Amino acid sequence: MTTVDLPLLVLGNGEDPRSERGVRCPGDLPPASDPDLVERARAAKASLGTKVFVLGHHYQRDEVIEFADVTGDSFKLAREAAARPEAPYIVFCGVHFMAESADILTADHQQVVLPDLAAGCSMADMARLHQVEDAWEVLEDAGVADVTVPITYMNSSADIKAFCGRNGGAVCTSSNAKTALEWAFERGEKVLFFPDQHLGRNTAVLQMGFDLDDCVVYDPRLPGGGLTTEQLSAARMILWRGHCSVHGRFTAECVDEVRERVPGVNVLVHPECTYDVVTKADLVGSTEFIIKTLDAAPAGSAWAIGTELNLVQRLAAQHPDKQVTFLDKTVCYCSTMNRIDLPHFVWAMENLVEGQIVNPITVDADTTHWAKVALDRMLALPG
Ligand code: SF4
Repeated sequence: MTTVDLPLLVLGNGEDPRSERGVRCPGDLPPASDPDLVERARAAKASLGTKVFVLGHHYQRDEVIEFADVTGDSFKLAREAAARPEAPYIVFCGVHFMAESADILTADHQQVVLPDLAAGCSMADMARLHQVEDAWEVLEDAGVADVTVPITYMNSSADIKAFCGRNGGAVCTSSNAKTALEWAFERGEKVLFFPDQHLGRNTAVLQMGFDLDDCVVYDPRLPGGGLTTEQLSAARMILWRGHCSVHGRFTAECVDEVRERVPGVNVLVHPECTYDVVTKADLVGSTEFIIKTLDAAPAGSAWAIGTELNLVQRLAAQHPDKQVTFLDKTVCYCSTMNRIDLPHFVWAMENLVEGQIVNPITVDADTTHWAKVALDRMLALPG
Protein backbone atom coordinates (compact mmCIF):
# COMPACT_ATOMS: atom_id res chain seq x y z
CA MET A 1 0.00 0.00 0.00
CA THR A 2 1.38 3.45 -0.85
CA THR A 3 0.63 6.74 0.80
CA VAL A 4 1.80 9.94 -0.84
CA ASP A 5 1.88 13.07 1.26
CA LEU A 6 1.30 16.14 -0.86
CA PRO A 7 3.01 19.43 -0.13
CA LEU A 8 0.70 22.29 0.70
CA LEU A 9 0.58 24.74 -2.17
CA VAL A 10 -0.47 28.31 -1.93
CA LEU A 11 -3.24 28.65 -4.49
CA GLY A 12 -1.87 29.62 -7.86
CA ASN A 13 1.74 28.98 -6.87
CA GLY A 14 3.66 25.92 -7.89
CA GLU A 15 2.23 22.94 -9.68
CA ASP A 16 0.71 19.67 -8.63
CA PRO A 17 -0.86 17.91 -11.61
CA ARG A 18 -2.37 15.27 -9.29
CA SER A 19 -4.32 17.94 -7.49
CA GLU A 20 -7.60 19.63 -8.26
CA ARG A 21 -5.76 22.88 -7.62
CA GLY A 22 -2.31 24.34 -7.11
CA VAL A 23 -1.68 24.94 -10.79
CA ARG A 24 -0.06 28.12 -11.98
CA CYS A 25 -2.02 30.27 -14.40
CA PRO A 26 0.03 30.36 -17.60
CA GLY A 27 -1.33 33.61 -19.00
CA ASP A 28 -0.85 37.36 -18.79
CA LEU A 29 -4.01 38.37 -17.02
CA PRO A 30 -5.49 41.81 -17.41
CA PRO A 31 -5.15 43.73 -14.14
CA ALA A 32 -8.18 43.54 -11.86
CA SER A 33 -8.13 47.34 -11.77
CA ASP A 34 -8.72 47.64 -15.51
CA PRO A 35 -11.92 49.75 -15.75
CA ASP A 36 -12.74 48.20 -19.14
CA LEU A 37 -12.99 44.59 -17.97
CA VAL A 38 -16.78 44.42 -18.18
CA GLU A 39 -16.75 45.98 -21.64
CA ARG A 40 -13.97 43.62 -22.76
CA ALA A 41 -15.92 40.60 -21.52
CA ARG A 42 -19.05 41.80 -23.33
CA ALA A 43 -17.12 42.43 -26.54
CA ALA A 44 -15.44 38.99 -26.46
CA LYS A 45 -18.74 37.24 -25.81
CA ALA A 46 -20.47 39.16 -28.60
CA SER A 47 -17.62 38.39 -30.98
CA LEU A 48 -17.77 34.65 -30.23
CA GLY A 49 -21.57 34.52 -30.47
CA THR A 50 -22.98 31.00 -30.53
CA LYS A 51 -19.46 29.54 -30.73
CA VAL A 52 -19.19 29.88 -26.95
CA PHE A 53 -21.50 28.68 -24.19
CA VAL A 54 -20.72 30.03 -20.74
CA LEU A 55 -21.68 28.02 -17.68
CA GLY A 56 -21.88 29.67 -14.25
CA HIS A 57 -22.06 27.66 -11.05
CA HIS A 58 -24.32 29.04 -8.32
CA TYR A 59 -21.33 29.73 -6.08
CA GLN A 60 -19.59 32.02 -8.57
CA ARG A 61 -19.07 35.73 -8.10
CA ASP A 62 -21.73 38.08 -9.50
CA GLU A 63 -19.17 39.68 -11.83
CA VAL A 64 -18.83 36.35 -13.63
CA ILE A 65 -22.42 35.13 -13.28
CA GLU A 66 -23.40 38.21 -15.29
CA PHE A 67 -21.89 36.57 -18.37
CA ALA A 68 -23.27 33.06 -17.84
CA ASP A 69 -25.66 31.68 -20.45
CA VAL A 70 -26.98 29.34 -17.79
CA THR A 71 -26.50 28.96 -14.05
CA GLY A 72 -26.92 25.82 -12.02
CA ASP A 73 -25.28 23.12 -9.96
CA SER A 74 -22.45 21.07 -11.41
CA PHE A 75 -24.55 18.30 -12.92
CA LYS A 76 -27.15 20.59 -14.45
CA LEU A 77 -24.39 22.63 -16.04
CA ALA A 78 -22.65 19.60 -17.53
CA ARG A 79 -25.94 18.47 -19.07
CA GLU A 80 -26.65 21.95 -20.39
CA ALA A 81 -23.27 21.92 -22.12
CA ALA A 82 -23.99 18.51 -23.66
CA ALA A 83 -27.30 19.89 -24.97
CA ARG A 84 -25.46 22.63 -26.92
CA PRO A 85 -23.44 20.68 -29.52
CA GLU A 86 -23.41 23.75 -31.75
CA ALA A 87 -21.05 25.51 -29.34
CA PRO A 88 -17.46 24.37 -29.89
CA TYR A 89 -16.25 26.22 -26.78
CA ILE A 90 -17.67 25.63 -23.31
CA VAL A 91 -16.30 28.10 -20.78
CA PHE A 92 -16.97 26.63 -17.35
CA CYS A 93 -17.06 29.14 -14.52
CA GLY A 94 -16.85 26.62 -11.74
CA VAL A 95 -14.17 24.27 -10.42
CA HIS A 96 -11.99 21.62 -11.99
CA PHE A 97 -14.08 18.49 -11.38
CA MET A 98 -17.10 20.23 -12.90
CA ALA A 99 -15.18 21.07 -16.05
CA GLU A 100 -14.08 17.43 -16.23
CA SER A 101 -17.69 16.27 -15.97
CA ALA A 102 -18.64 18.66 -18.75
CA ASP A 103 -15.85 17.27 -20.91
CA ILE A 104 -17.03 13.71 -20.24
CA LEU A 105 -20.63 14.51 -21.21
CA THR A 106 -19.99 16.79 -24.20
CA ALA A 107 -19.14 15.75 -27.75
CA ASP A 108 -15.56 15.32 -28.98
CA HIS A 109 -15.65 18.50 -31.06
CA GLN A 110 -16.47 20.61 -27.98
CA GLN A 111 -13.61 21.98 -25.90
CA VAL A 112 -14.17 22.80 -22.24
CA VAL A 113 -12.16 25.71 -20.84
CA LEU A 114 -11.63 26.48 -17.14
CA PRO A 115 -10.61 30.15 -16.87
CA ASP A 116 -8.31 29.46 -13.89
CA LEU A 117 -6.74 26.03 -13.47
CA ALA A 118 -6.22 26.77 -9.79
CA ALA A 119 -9.99 26.62 -9.31
CA GLY A 120 -10.16 23.21 -7.70
CA CYS A 121 -12.28 21.73 -4.94
CA SER A 122 -10.80 20.88 -1.56
CA MET A 123 -13.39 18.14 -1.08
CA ALA A 124 -12.56 16.49 -4.41
CA ASP A 125 -8.87 16.64 -3.47
CA MET A 126 -9.58 14.63 -0.32
CA ALA A 127 -10.06 11.44 -2.37
CA ARG A 128 -7.20 10.66 -4.75
CA LEU A 129 -7.26 7.67 -7.02
CA HIS A 130 -4.28 5.95 -5.40
CA GLN A 131 -5.92 6.36 -2.00
CA VAL A 132 -9.21 4.92 -3.22
CA GLU A 133 -7.40 2.00 -4.85
CA ASP A 134 -5.58 1.39 -1.56
CA ALA A 135 -8.91 1.47 0.28
CA TRP A 136 -10.35 -1.09 -2.14
CA GLU A 137 -7.38 -3.35 -1.37
CA VAL A 138 -8.12 -2.97 2.34
CA LEU A 139 -11.71 -4.04 1.67
CA GLU A 140 -10.46 -7.00 -0.39
CA ASP A 141 -8.11 -8.05 2.42
CA ALA A 142 -11.02 -7.82 4.85
CA GLY A 143 -13.10 -10.01 2.51
CA VAL A 144 -15.82 -7.40 1.98
CA ALA A 145 -14.99 -5.84 -1.40
CA ASP A 146 -17.25 -8.33 -3.20
CA VAL A 147 -20.28 -7.11 -1.28
CA THR A 148 -19.40 -3.40 -1.41
CA VAL A 149 -20.66 -0.96 -4.03
CA PRO A 150 -18.61 2.24 -4.49
CA ILE A 151 -20.63 5.44 -4.83
CA THR A 152 -18.97 8.76 -5.45
CA TYR A 153 -20.46 12.18 -5.07
CA MET A 154 -20.41 14.31 -8.21
CA ASN A 155 -17.80 16.43 -6.41
CA SER A 156 -14.92 14.12 -7.25
CA SER A 157 -12.29 13.91 -9.93
CA ALA A 158 -12.94 12.07 -13.19
CA ASP A 159 -10.63 9.18 -12.27
CA ILE A 160 -12.63 8.54 -9.09
CA LYS A 161 -15.84 8.45 -11.11
CA ALA A 162 -14.10 6.03 -13.48
CA PHE A 163 -13.08 3.86 -10.51
CA CYS A 164 -16.76 3.57 -9.60
CA GLY A 165 -17.66 2.74 -13.19
CA ARG A 166 -15.08 -0.06 -13.29
CA ASN A 167 -16.15 -1.51 -9.96
CA GLY A 168 -19.91 -1.70 -10.38
CA GLY A 169 -20.63 1.64 -8.75
CA ALA A 170 -22.22 4.93 -9.69
CA VAL A 171 -22.13 8.68 -9.21
CA CYS A 172 -24.67 10.62 -7.15
CA THR A 173 -25.59 14.25 -6.60
CA SER A 174 -26.89 15.86 -3.44
CA SER A 175 -30.38 15.63 -5.00
CA ASN A 176 -30.36 11.91 -5.73
CA ALA A 177 -28.02 10.49 -3.05
CA LYS A 178 -30.86 8.52 -1.43
CA THR A 179 -31.94 6.93 -4.72
CA ALA A 180 -28.32 6.11 -5.58
CA LEU A 181 -27.78 4.47 -2.19
CA GLU A 182 -31.00 2.44 -2.56
CA TRP A 183 -29.72 1.30 -5.96
CA ALA A 184 -26.39 0.34 -4.40
CA PHE A 185 -27.95 -1.61 -1.52
CA GLU A 186 -29.96 -3.63 -4.03
CA ARG A 187 -26.60 -4.77 -5.43
CA GLY A 188 -24.47 -5.12 -2.33
CA GLU A 189 -24.47 -5.23 1.43
CA LYS A 190 -22.24 -2.22 1.93
CA VAL A 191 -21.45 1.09 0.30
CA LEU A 192 -18.07 2.78 0.10
CA PHE A 193 -19.08 6.43 -0.18
CA PHE A 194 -16.72 9.25 -1.11
CA PRO A 195 -15.51 11.95 -0.85
CA ASP A 196 -18.08 13.64 1.44
CA GLN A 197 -18.67 11.75 4.67
CA HIS A 198 -21.44 14.18 5.67
CA LEU A 199 -23.62 13.70 2.60
CA GLY A 200 -23.21 9.93 2.99
CA ARG A 201 -24.04 9.91 6.71
CA ASN A 202 -26.92 12.39 6.46
CA THR A 203 -28.50 10.45 3.63
CA ALA A 204 -28.08 6.99 5.17
CA VAL A 205 -29.17 7.94 8.69
CA LEU A 206 -31.72 10.70 8.18
CA GLN A 207 -33.33 9.53 4.96
CA MET A 208 -32.87 5.76 4.93
CA GLY A 209 -33.18 4.74 8.57
CA PHE A 210 -29.64 3.50 9.19
CA ASP A 211 -28.11 3.97 12.64
CA LEU A 212 -25.05 6.09 13.19
CA ASP A 213 -23.41 2.85 14.32
CA ASP A 214 -23.94 1.41 10.84
CA CYS A 215 -21.47 4.02 9.55
CA VAL A 216 -17.70 3.94 9.91
CA VAL A 217 -15.23 6.54 8.67
CA TYR A 218 -12.31 5.41 6.52
CA ASP A 219 -9.35 7.73 7.01
CA PRO A 220 -7.03 7.45 3.98
CA ARG A 221 -4.14 8.85 6.03
CA LEU A 222 -4.19 5.94 8.47
CA PRO A 223 -3.02 2.36 7.85
CA GLY A 224 -6.03 0.26 6.90
CA GLY A 225 -8.11 3.44 6.97
CA GLY A 226 -7.92 3.30 10.77
CA LEU A 227 -10.50 0.51 10.79
CA THR A 228 -10.31 -3.11 11.91
CA THR A 229 -11.55 -6.04 9.84
CA GLU A 230 -14.36 -6.46 12.37
CA GLN A 231 -15.44 -2.84 11.95
CA LEU A 232 -15.42 -3.16 8.16
CA SER A 233 -17.39 -6.41 8.35
CA ALA A 234 -20.05 -4.90 10.62
CA ALA A 235 -20.43 -1.57 8.78
CA ARG A 236 -23.09 -0.85 6.16
CA MET A 237 -21.81 2.60 5.16
CA ILE A 238 -18.06 3.03 4.83
CA LEU A 239 -17.68 6.80 4.66
CA TRP A 240 -14.59 8.42 3.25
CA ARG A 241 -13.02 10.97 5.55
CA GLY A 242 -13.68 14.00 3.36
CA HIS A 243 -15.75 17.11 3.70
CA CYS A 244 -16.51 20.47 2.12
CA SER A 245 -14.42 23.21 3.65
CA VAL A 246 -17.29 25.67 3.12
CA HIS A 247 -20.27 23.71 4.41
CA GLY A 248 -18.15 22.12 7.13
CA ARG A 249 -17.79 25.53 8.77
CA PHE A 250 -21.39 25.70 9.94
CA THR A 251 -21.89 24.47 13.50
CA ALA A 252 -24.84 23.54 15.71
CA GLU A 253 -24.08 26.73 17.66
CA CYS A 254 -24.67 28.75 14.48
CA VAL A 255 -28.19 27.30 14.34
CA ASP A 256 -28.85 28.08 18.03
CA GLU A 257 -27.49 31.58 17.61
CA VAL A 258 -29.59 32.45 14.56
CA ARG A 259 -32.75 31.12 16.19
CA GLU A 260 -32.14 33.50 19.10
CA ARG A 261 -31.28 36.39 16.82
CA VAL A 262 -34.10 35.99 14.27
CA PRO A 263 -37.47 35.00 15.77
CA GLY A 264 -39.39 32.50 13.67
CA VAL A 265 -36.45 31.87 11.35
CA ASN A 266 -36.45 28.79 9.10
CA VAL A 267 -33.04 27.17 8.97
CA LEU A 268 -32.30 25.72 5.53
CA VAL A 269 -28.99 23.93 4.97
CA HIS A 270 -27.13 21.89 2.38
CA PRO A 271 -26.56 18.16 3.12
CA GLU A 272 -22.77 18.70 2.98
CA CYS A 273 -23.18 20.26 6.44
CA THR A 274 -22.38 18.09 9.45
CA TYR A 275 -24.93 15.70 10.97
CA ASP A 276 -25.21 17.99 14.04
CA VAL A 277 -26.15 20.97 11.87
CA VAL A 278 -28.51 19.04 9.62
CA THR A 279 -30.39 17.52 12.56
CA LYS A 280 -30.92 20.99 14.03
CA ALA A 281 -32.07 22.56 10.76
CA ASP A 282 -35.69 22.80 9.58
CA LEU A 283 -35.00 21.85 5.98
CA VAL A 284 -32.12 20.16 4.20
CA GLY A 285 -31.49 19.99 0.48
CA SER A 286 -29.34 20.58 -2.55
CA THR A 287 -28.53 23.97 -3.99
CA GLU A 288 -31.42 23.68 -6.43
CA PHE A 289 -33.74 22.72 -3.53
CA ILE A 290 -32.58 25.76 -1.56
CA ILE A 291 -33.32 28.05 -4.52
CA LYS A 292 -36.77 26.54 -5.13
CA THR A 293 -37.65 26.69 -1.44
CA LEU A 294 -36.84 30.41 -1.31
CA ASP A 295 -38.81 31.00 -4.52
CA ALA A 296 -41.88 29.32 -2.98
CA ALA A 297 -41.57 30.92 0.46
CA PRO A 298 -44.23 33.45 1.49
CA ALA A 299 -43.41 37.15 1.71
CA GLY A 300 -42.35 38.17 5.21
CA SER A 301 -40.84 34.77 6.07
CA ALA A 302 -37.35 34.61 7.59
CA TRP A 303 -34.62 32.25 6.39
CA ALA A 304 -31.13 31.40 7.57
CA ILE A 305 -29.27 29.63 4.79
CA GLY A 306 -26.33 27.29 5.31
CA THR A 307 -24.55 27.24 1.97
CA GLU A 308 -21.97 29.22 0.02
CA LEU A 309 -22.14 32.97 0.56
CA ASN A 310 -22.24 34.16 -3.07
CA LEU A 311 -25.45 32.19 -3.55
CA VAL A 312 -26.97 33.38 -0.27
CA GLN A 313 -26.23 37.00 -1.16
CA ARG A 314 -27.88 36.57 -4.57
CA LEU A 315 -30.91 34.92 -2.96
CA ALA A 316 -31.19 37.82 -0.52
CA ALA A 317 -31.07 40.30 -3.42
CA GLN A 318 -33.66 38.32 -5.40
CA HIS A 319 -36.08 38.10 -2.45
CA PRO A 320 -36.31 41.57 -0.91
CA ASP A 321 -39.77 40.66 0.48
CA LYS A 322 -38.20 37.93 2.64
CA GLN A 323 -35.60 38.09 5.37
CA VAL A 324 -32.66 36.06 4.08
CA THR A 325 -29.65 35.75 6.31
CA PHE A 326 -26.42 33.75 6.23
CA LEU A 327 -26.24 30.96 8.78
CA ASP A 328 -22.69 31.75 9.88
CA LYS A 329 -21.67 35.13 11.26
CA THR A 330 -18.36 35.04 9.47
CA VAL A 331 -17.70 35.24 5.75
CA CYS A 332 -17.78 31.86 4.06
CA TYR A 333 -17.03 31.94 0.34
CA CYS A 334 -15.71 28.95 -1.55
CA SER A 335 -12.20 30.28 -2.06
CA THR A 336 -11.45 28.09 -5.06
CA MET A 337 -14.70 28.94 -6.86
CA ASN A 338 -13.75 32.55 -6.33
CA ARG A 339 -10.57 32.01 -8.32
CA ILE A 340 -12.67 32.56 -11.44
CA ASP A 341 -12.84 36.32 -11.51
CA LEU A 342 -13.32 38.84 -14.26
CA PRO A 343 -9.62 39.06 -15.24
CA HIS A 344 -9.43 35.27 -15.75
CA PHE A 345 -12.75 35.26 -17.60
CA VAL A 346 -11.67 38.07 -19.94
CA TRP A 347 -8.31 36.40 -20.51
CA ALA A 348 -9.91 33.07 -21.46
CA MET A 349 -12.57 34.66 -23.67
CA GLU A 350 -10.23 37.05 -25.50
CA ASN A 351 -7.91 34.15 -26.25
CA LEU A 352 -10.83 32.24 -27.76
CA VAL A 353 -11.60 35.26 -29.94
CA GLU A 354 -7.99 35.03 -31.15
CA GLY A 355 -8.50 31.33 -31.87
CA GLN A 356 -6.35 30.21 -28.93
CA ILE A 357 -7.71 27.77 -26.41
CA VAL A 358 -6.24 28.39 -22.97
CA ASN A 359 -6.71 26.09 -19.98
CA PRO A 360 -8.40 23.26 -21.90
CA ILE A 361 -9.84 20.49 -19.74
CA THR A 362 -9.57 17.13 -21.43
CA VAL A 363 -10.21 13.79 -19.78
CA ASP A 364 -8.45 10.82 -21.42
CA ALA A 365 -10.56 8.31 -23.37
CA ASP A 366 -10.36 5.40 -20.92
CA THR A 367 -11.23 7.56 -17.91
CA THR A 368 -14.04 9.17 -19.90
CA HIS A 369 -15.46 5.77 -20.82
CA TRP A 370 -15.59 4.43 -17.26
CA ALA A 371 -16.66 7.71 -15.69
CA LYS A 372 -19.50 7.82 -18.18
CA VAL A 373 -20.49 4.28 -17.19
CA ALA A 374 -20.84 5.52 -13.59
CA LEU A 375 -22.67 8.68 -14.68
CA ASP A 376 -25.02 6.71 -16.94
CA ARG A 377 -25.91 4.41 -14.03
CA MET A 378 -26.91 7.53 -12.12
CA LEU A 379 -28.92 8.85 -15.06
CA ALA A 380 -30.81 5.56 -15.24
CA LEU A 381 -31.95 5.87 -11.61
CA PRO A 382 -35.69 6.30 -11.12
CA GLY A 383 -37.05 9.81 -10.50
S1 SF4 B 1 -18.28 24.62 -1.96
FE1 SF4 B 1 -17.19 22.83 -1.10
S2 SF4 B 1 -17.69 21.09 -2.42
FE2 SF4 B 1 -18.25 23.01 -3.54
S3 SF4 B 1 -16.42 23.48 -4.79
FE3 SF4 B 1 -16.21 24.63 -2.86
S4 SF4 B 1 -15.00 23.22 -1.52
FE4 SF4 B 1 -15.77 21.99 -3.22
